[in-house]
Amino acid sequence: GASAPRARSARMDYSTTTTPSAAATAGVSLRRHRHRNNKDKLLVIMGATGTGKSRLSIDLAAHFPLEVINSDKMQFYEGLDITTNKIPVHDRLGVAHHLLGDVYPAGGELTPAEFRSLAGKAIADITGRRKLPVLVGGSNSFIHALVVDRFDSSGSNVFEEGSNSVISTELRYNCCLIWVDVSIKVLNDYLSKRVDDMLDSGMFDELADFYVSEDEFNDDDSAARTGLRKAIGVPEFDLYFKKFRPGSEEEDDPEWDRMRRGAFEEAVRAMKENTCQLAKNQIGKILRLKGSGWDLRRLDATEAFRAVLTSESGQRCTEIWERQVLEPSVKIVKRFLDE
Ligand code: ATP
Repeated sequence: GASAPRARSARMDYSTTTTPSAAATAGVSLRRHRHRNNKDKLLVIMGATGTGKSRLSIDLAAHFPLEVINSDKMQFYEGLDITTNKIPVHDRLGVAHHLLGDVYPAGGELTPAEFRSLAGKAIADITGRRKLPVLVGGSNSFIHALVVDRFDSSGSNVFEEGSNSVISTELRYNCCLIWVDVSIKVLNDYLSKRVDDMLDSGMFDELADFYVSEDEFNDDDSAARTGLRKAIGVPEFDLYFKKFRPGSEEEDDPEWDRMRRGAFEEAVRAMKENTCQLAKNQIGKILRLKGSGWDLRRLDATEAFRAVLTSESGQRCTEIWERQVLEPSVKIVKRFLDE
């Protein structure tokens, strides 16, 4: 029969975003973004998972010629696009993205030192094209590794307890640091809905394919997947697929079905909990960077997210987002480019 009406998606959507072509593709170029101190300019959009960093970068592209460099440590690799929340090509509106699904590190997992080198090269190339490089992603240890003047690859992660490395404020770029913040309570509600939306978008099949191909691939392919194995969703659903192997015969047994549903609900619950924990940890790291002297410009997107959650019209959500997040960001970036 007819399927039940589905709840309106809670995702921040890009549908009302003005096309960035005006600035980005009409051949507009910026003055070479070198500061008086001869450092290249870099815009960094920071924030916990789900706070709208990608959307902001695309919105800003309507105002400034820019290219995006990804700094989400799970989005470097090819695969699991839904599970890791890569911005879909359609939503990129022609804006160039770097280190997004096209990194194949020799050791399987990209190290902070390798990221520093790859992203550093991308920044130089983008600057050479007279465009503004914009770093977008939630992996704060990678952001730190990239932008600090001196990076000690033998040191431990600056955010780890008892680390022998310290957070440095001496940066090798002239950075403008924007922090998109959403109150944790509203963000948790949003992230929980986002997991449901990801399931609606095909995450289950994506994870099932990943699980099955783990057995089938040779060692080379297996190495390339080491990073992705840690993505939230993979370990949680592994437990489910171990018991209920993808493609295995459906048993016509209510008890079996009850067990299967229970295991599925448990995987979804764990994913939601771990995503909220990730957001909390990321906010903690951002606060530590701020506390150590990083000059972060905080923009509060809470009201825009609350509007999305209470199913306000898309137009209303966009209005709030533009007034409270986009417009202040445009001002900040304008001033930064004029410096
Ligand atoms: P650390 O300081 O531990 O290196 P980080 O700030 O560099 O952390 P995060 O981006 O916070 O890195 O990621 C920490 C963990 O959260 C990842 O190892 C992964 O398990 C999970 N994670 C992060 N981003 C994603 C994503 N896009 N999709 C799924 N899981 C993710």
